[in-house]
Amino acid sequence: MIPNAVKQGVDLPEAASWRDVMQRIATDVASPNSDLADRTATFPAQTFEALRCSGMLGLMVPKSLGGQELGLRKIADLCAVLAGACGASGMVYAMHQIKLSSLVAHGMQTEYHRALMRDVVAKQLLIASSTTEAGIGGDMRISNCAIEMTGDRVSLIKQASVLSYATEADIIMATARRGPASAGSDQVLIALRRSDYQLQRTAEWNTLGMRATCSEGFLLTATAGADQIFPKPFHEIAVQSMLATAHVLWSSVWFGIATDALSRAHASVRATARRMPSDFAGPLPGAARLAEATAKLQTFKSTLVAHIERFETAKHDEDDLSSINFAIEMNNLKVMASNMAVDIVREALMVTGIAGYRNDGPFSVGRHLRDVLSAPLMVANDRILANTAGLVVAGRFDSCLE
Ligand SMILES: Cc1cc2nc3c(=O)[nH]c(=O)nc-3n(C[C@H](O)[C@H](O)[C@H](O)COP(=O)(O)OP(=O)(O)OC[C@H]3O[C@@H](n4cnc5c(N)ncnc54)[C@H](O)[C@@H]3O)c2cc1C
Repeated sequence: MIPNAVKQGVDLPEAASWRDVMQRIATDVASPNSDLADRTATFPAQTFEALRCSGMLGLMVPKSLGGQELGLRKIADLCAVLAGACGASGMVYAMHQIKLSSLVAHGMQTEYHRALMRDVVAKQLLIASSTTEAGIGGDMRISNCAIEMTGDRVSLIKQASVLSYATEADIIMATARRGPASAGSDQVLIALRRSDYQLQRTAEWNTLGMRATCSEGFLLTATAGADQIFPKPFHEIAVQSMLATAHVLWSSVWFGIATDALSRAHASVRATARRMPSDFAGPLPGAARLAEATAKLQTFKSTLVAHIERFETAKHDEDDLSSINFAIEMNNLKVMASNMAVDIVREALMVTGIAGYRNDGPFSVGRHLRDVLSAPLMVANDRILANTAGLVVAGRFDSCLE
């Protein structure tokens, strides 16, 4: 699918207005389709058609390859805007961007990956991610499956137990052991085009929330060129770009969900205020809780923005990027953001009361709550905390405000 703007030879908008484009798609397409996509657990196809038509899938790609070279903060903002209208759409968009960021950060030296980035822009290709594997769970730094090499061709069979929007994607980026004799942690990342793989469904995705991400289980069988494997080992890709980008963009999605839930709470308190007699002097129901939740949202935003800036700075210093302290900070962002988002949506429910508990009406926050409850599980916080605990003990204690 070629974006309309590209087809017509029209210049895509300047970076400053991509937010407006996303806001329009969120309001006109994602929001009206979100309930049906959630109820039926189906991919939000119209939303992604609109994103493609507006050229929103290749924004991060360097200008030399046809993209807009949009920075992480702007991409994070776009994820939040979309997630406010439909949490699942926001998460799919974020997962695509996370994979694209690995291509941008680690694929510029190889012709295969440069060509892929050009195609992501020109054909608006959607990228899915396969790290989770049966028997391993959320530990993306270990694989069971292994690449088999024959000359310049490789093959892979992976039990991908959770693989979002796999049947809708044009590209799957998968982790695997470097070879059958390699250790589980000696992994590579391979970019597979749709013509390279077959998918056999092994598990349904009938979940509490994030239903329209269609994160079903599949047996992934692929044959591809050896040049489709990224030259850098996966552990370096993970440390230097993927984990930090994932934690920032997931957090942005959860921020968008929490923001929309709280805006509904805000609207409900204002509606209550309008119904009050003009001489009403008591405390406005819900207002104090709304104020408290707004303070939490503000803290969430400051923390997220600070971590984005921290990451942008670290990108110029490979030692910092690979340091224990940077890993601790980015792990802490994920744990903080996922807990805070749940907390804020729960507060929004307390403010809106039964109107928020209803599945219909303007103050409903049921879908927000169900979607955001996936946040602490999406690579389990307990797993991340266990990993961080080891790093904290090994690292230096940081008390500096500079
Ligand atoms: C909406 C959504 C979309 C997703 N999309 C994809 C996708 O496209 N591709 C993909 O590859 N994956 C995807 N995932 C999977 C995700 O990234 C995690 O891998 C998965 O959620 C972890 O699954 P798990 O809870 O079964 O496994 P585990 O991580 O093994 O956790 C199982 C349980 O064990 C506990 N546990 C595990 N390790 C420790 C530890 N060290 N210390 C203490 N407790 C521990 C956890 O707290 C948890 O209770 C998605 C998940 C969600 C929610």
